[in-house]
Parts: sequence; C-alpha cells; structure tokens
Amino acid sequence: MISLTIRRLAGSRAWKPPLARSMVLVRRQARETIPSTPIKVLRTVDAVRKWRKPQVLDHRIVSLVPTMGALHEGHISLIRAAARESHQVVVSIYVNPAQFGIKEDLASYPVTWDNDCKILAKLDRELADDGGNLGRISAVFAPTTNEIYPSGFPGQEVNSKGSFVVMTPISELLEGRTRPTFFRGVATVCLKLFNIVQPEKVYFGQKDVQQTVVIRNMVRDFMLPIDVVVGQTSREPDGLALSSRNVYLGERRRNVATVLNRALKAAEEQYHNGVLDRDTILKAANSVIADTLNEQMALGPEQRVKYEVDYISLADPSTMQEVTNVDPKVGGILSGAVKMLPVEAPQPGEDLGHSDGPAVRLIDNIVLEPSA
Ligand code: AMP
Repeated sequence: MISLTIRRLAGSRAWKPPLARSMVLVRRQARETIPSTPIKVLRTVDAVRKWRKPQVLDHRIVSLVPTMGALHEGHISLIRAAARESHQVVVSIYVNPAQFGIKEDLASYPVTWDNDCKILAKLDRELADDGGNLGRISAVFAPTTNEIYPSGFPGQEVNSKGSFVVMTPISELLEGRTRPTFFRGVATVCLKLFNIVQPEKVYFGQKDVQQTVVIRNMVRDFMLPIDVVVGQTSREPDGLALSSRNVYLGERRRNVATVLNRALKAAEEQYHNGVLDRDTILKAANSVIADTLNEQMALGPEQRVKYEVDYISLADPSTMQEVTNVDPKVGGILSGAVKMLPVEAPQPGEDLGHSDGPAVRLIDNIVLEPSA
C-alpha cells in the first residue's frame, strides 16, 4: 500500500525524487548552447570531461583560449588563430578572483556575458565561412568559483592558505611587484583549466608578456603536454593596446593613454638604431613619459590627465630579469605599466568611463627581436 502511494506520487508531475531532478538539470546544462549556434556552454568540470572524451578517440586537436570575458578584438584574434590550427576551440570565460588583489577592481570588472555570446556567435559564423580554418568554436567553459575551487576559495590575501601554483622568482618581478598574488592566481587557474579541458594547444596574448613567460615556464617545469602559442598584441589605430580595462578610461584619459606605447616605441627605435645599453634605450622611453606629463600639467585641472609610472623595464625574454645590455642574439622585452589617475575636476556631463573612472593601470610591451 505504501509503495503504491509512493509510485503514484512519483508518477505525478508535481513531484520528482531529488536525484531525478538533478539529473534533469545536468542534462539541461549539457544541452545549453549559445543562441543560434552549435557552441556548447559548459559550466561544470564533469560536463567538459564528457564533451572532451570523444575528441580523444576521434583524434581531434583541441585548443583552449582562456579569457575573463569582456571580449574584444585581442581575444578574437587568439580564437581565430586557434581555429586555424585546431579542430575544436574551447574558450573559457571566468573572472578568477584569485588573480585580483584585495584592493583591485574585481567588483567592478566588466562582466558582459550576453555581448560575449553575440561576439562568439558572429565569430563562429565567420570561421564557418572561411575555408582556411581547421575548426570552429566548439564550447565555452564558464564555470562558477565553487566549481574551480572545490576545497573552497582560498582568498586573495598574500598569506592565504590553499592549493597554489607558485612560480618564483618570475612572479615577484615587474607586474608581481605591484600585484603580489597575480601570477599565483593566474598560474593556479590556468593549471586547473588545462587539467579540465586537456587542450593540445593553449593561446595567450603577447599583450600580457610576463604572463606568457609564466605559462611557458609552468608548462615546461610541470611537463604538461601542451603547446603554448602566443598571439600578437591587438591595438587601436593610435597604438593603445586593447584591454577589457580600457572601458574605465573615459574620453579625457583615453586620449593620453597612448603615452605608454609611444614611450616604448621611442625606446625600440634606439634598439633599431643599434643601441644596446639599457640606460640609453630606457632614457628615450622615460623622456616621452616626462614630456607628456609636463604638457598635461601645463593644462588646467578641468582638462589635464595625471599618471604615475609603475615601471619601465628592459628585460631578458625568457626570465623577465632586467638586463644592463641587450644581447642582440637574444633580444629583449621592453615593457611598462602606467597608472592613469582619476580625472580631477570632472566637467558636467563628462564621460568618465565605466564605474565613474577609477584609477586604471595600463600595461604594454614591445619585443626587441634578436638580430639574425
Ligand atoms: P583577459 O581576458 O584580459 O584575461 O585576456 C585573455 C587573453 O587575451 C590573455 O591571453 C591576454 O593576453 C589576451 N589579450 C588581452 N588583450 C589582448 C590584446 N590587446 N591583444 C592580444 N591578446 C590580448
């Protein structure tokens, strides 16, 4: 009698045993796609593993393009490169809290899921029409923080306890000096993403040059069977490197934001003229930065833009350690970080940028290619 009642209830629409309900949820997630595309949206490690398994048997080359979303042409160029060289491209979209410092812009970091989906849908149609591609975008992996940190999120403090990948000394240099937890967060999340997706190739942007060296070193030192491919920096026509953070700038600071690229180019010119010593090369960059700041300071507070230089560096390409002379057989990396301060005396109706224009840290770099 009792079992009959349960069976009847179970058969009714109003009730489902919890297990069956969660299975429906998993099945629904597995079927989720970006609207009007075949691109799967995978949200769990389990869903990625289920998707990945048959690709091994079919000898498909799977690549991964890790991103934090707010997609722009820089991300798109990496996805295009991945589609040329692999059958299945997975794009991950995950704003990893572990790579933000406690005082950084995690809370206001632009999250633009619907627009990202539109960009990926348009790009996938282009990839389908272009016969030069080996593959297309197969899936977007968009996990939650609970999924990525199964033992609980370890926190953003320098002394947080948890399972981390720590790459030293490189993580302590340059970006790491100002952002001491940044590369620990990046290396840790990338190892997780690599283990989840198991890509043959991963694509990173030259824009974040120190990140590319950290990832290359991690792949080498932990014997990961992965090719690291680095795509060149995508820029605005005036040279500003594209970045998801450029939306914070607003018009006034956007116009001055080219200063870093102009400074690095001036230094590059020295190298192309045959100069190899650090002081002369970096002097050219520092002059552009000082001259531009002087020009700004001659303006009134309602017009000017102030910035602070975090570093201007000339480093070895494989260690990111500073060099006193460029070895022309090895080349070098010119890189810099400049903090654009919030505008003074905002004018009525002035476009201050996303989140009312907080301080924005811009980074950029130029590779000094070795001479033949
Ligand atoms: P993000 O979403 O900022 O974490 O960046 C994801 C990937 O896109 C990283 O490998 C970045 O180096 C790369 N990327 C970001 N901006 C650019 C750019 N302007 N040009 C090329 N790659 C970029």
